[in-house]
Amino acid sequence: MFVNKNEETWSDKKPGTASIWSGENRLFFEGSTGVPLVHSVSFGYENCDEWYDVAMERKEGHIYGRNTNPTVQLFEKKMCLLDGGEASTSFATGMAAISNSLFALLGPGKRVVSLKDTYGGTSRVFMEFLPAYDVDVMLCETTDHEQLEKEIAKGCDVLYLETPTNPTLKVIDLQRLIDAGKKTGAVTIVDNTFSTPINQKPLELGADLVLHSATKFIGGHADAMGGILSGKKELVEKVFRYREINGATLHPMAAFLMIRGLKTLELRMQRSNENAMAIARFLETQAQVESVFYPGLESNAGHEIAKKQMKGFGGVLSFSLKGGFEDVKRLLPKLEHAYLAAHLGGANTIVGPPRTTSHVETTVEQRKELGIPEGLIRYAVGLENSEDLIADLKSALNAL
Ligand SMILES: *Cc1c(COP(=O)(O)O)cnc(C)c1O
Repeated sequence: MFVNKNEETWSDKKPGTASIWSGENRLFFEGSTGVPLVHSVSFGYENCDEWYDVAMERKEGHIYGRNTNPTVQLFEKKMCLLDGGEASTSFATGMAAISNSLFALLGPGKRVVSLKDTYGGTSRVFMEFLPAYDVDVMLCETTDHEQLEKEIAKGCDVLYLETPTNPTLKVIDLQRLIDAGKKTGAVTIVDNTFSTPINQKPLELGADLVLHSATKFIGGHADAMGGILSGKKELVEKVFRYREINGATLHPMAAFLMIRGLKTLELRMQRSNENAMAIARFLETQAQVESVFYPGLESNAGHEIAKKQMKGFGGVLSFSLKGGFEDVKRLLPKLEHAYLAAHLGGANTIVGPPRTTSHVETTVEQRKELGIPEGLIRYAVGLENSEDLIADLKSALNAL
C-alpha cells in the first residue's frame, strides 16, 4: 500500500510528466536511474528495535513480500498520483482488485447495487459468490439511471459502476450516480479499466474508490497481469488489510513491467483514442456493418454523457455484421493485423466475438437480453497506424 502524505504532489503537472517522474525524484540503488526490480521476499534490520518499529508502522520499511515490496510500492505511488487518490494498493490481477474490494467492504446482510453489464468475471462475483455470503446483490439495467437511483435510494452499502461497458460500450453518467450514492452513504467503486486515468478520473467526480485491471492499458504490452485500487485512505487500507492475508499480491516483476508501461501511458492512450475514432468512423460507412458501438460517435446513445466525463473515448470499440455469427467466423481469420484472442490494451490489435471472450458463459437468450448481437465483434485497437488497420478491415469486409 502507498499513502500519499503530500511530500510529492503532481497535481500541477500533466499526466505524461507525472507518470514518468513521480516517485523517481531521487537516485536509486547504487545510483541507477532505472527503477530497481527487487525480488527479495524478506527485508532485514540492524536490530530488533528497528524491526519492531517497521512492524508497528512507526517507521517506513518492508517486512515480507506478501505485504509490501519497494518495486510494487513505486507502481502504487505512480498510480495513486495519476488517479488522484489518498492511497493505492495493488493486486495480482484486475479480478483480485475487484473481488478483494467487494469481499472486504461487503458481508452478510449488506447490499450492493450494480449494473447488468459489468465485466464477465465481476458479474460472476455478483451472481454466484457474493450471494453465497448472504450479500444482497441488485443488478440494474445498465443505462436505466432512474432504476439505478431508485435502487440506490432503497439502501446501498456499495455502489459498483463500470463505464464504458464491455462489449457494447454503454456509457453511464458517473456524476449523477455518484451523487445518488452519496445521499445514502454508499461506498462508490468505479472500474476504470477501459479509460485509465488519462481518459477518465472518477475520483474527481466524487467516487470513493477507482480500480483498474492493470493487465490492459496500464501495463500496455500484454506481458504482465495486475490490478490497482486508489481512493479514500481508510477504504484502501481496509481492502489492503484483507489482501495482505488473502494473498493476491502483485508480483514485483509485474510491477516493474507496469512501471515501464506507465511511462508511455499518455502517448499510448492518445494513439488508441485516435485510432479507435478513425476506425469507428470508417466502419459506420461500410455496407456489411449493421451497427458500430463507440462512445466517440455522435450516433452513440451515450455520446453526450461520454463527452462530459471523458477526455478521450478509449481504444475499444465493437461492431456487428449484418451476416451474423457466420460472417464473424468468416471475417476474423482474414484480418492480418489482429490477433484472435481475449485481451485488450496491448500494442497489437486484438479481436474476438463476445461469445468466446467476455460472455463465454452466457446463452444466446442472455446475450439477447444484454443487447449483444450474435454478429458482434469486439475490436481492441492497438498502436498500429490507423491507415493500415482500416485497409486490413476493408479488404476483409470486401471478401465476405
Ligand atoms: C480485464 C478486465 C478485468 C479483469 O482483469 P484481469 O486482470 O484479467 O483479472 C476487469 N474489468 C475490466 C473492465 C476488464 O476489461
